[in-house]
Amino acid sequence: MRVEVDQPRCVASGQCVLLAPEVFDQDDDGIVELLESDPEPRHHDDVRESAAVCPAAAIRLTER
Ligand code: SF4
Repeated sequence: MRVEVDQPRCVASGQCVLLAPEVFDQDDDGIVELLESDPEPRHHDDVRESAAVCPAAAIRLTER
């Protein structure tokens, strides 16, 4: 799995950080920061859920 984030789209809701704190963080303004673009398989479900619930559709996944 490859993870990309589109920071200009992010609305700082923090959903992704709550669901997958090993993969996503937020900067001082609440904007998403990607910690891990190639997360371990045990985090994949949480990352998929993060992408699904992100209100800005700012998380893009490539399954491989
Ligand atoms: S869930 Fe989406 S909008 Fe919310 S912080 Fe994460 S990337 Fe940004």
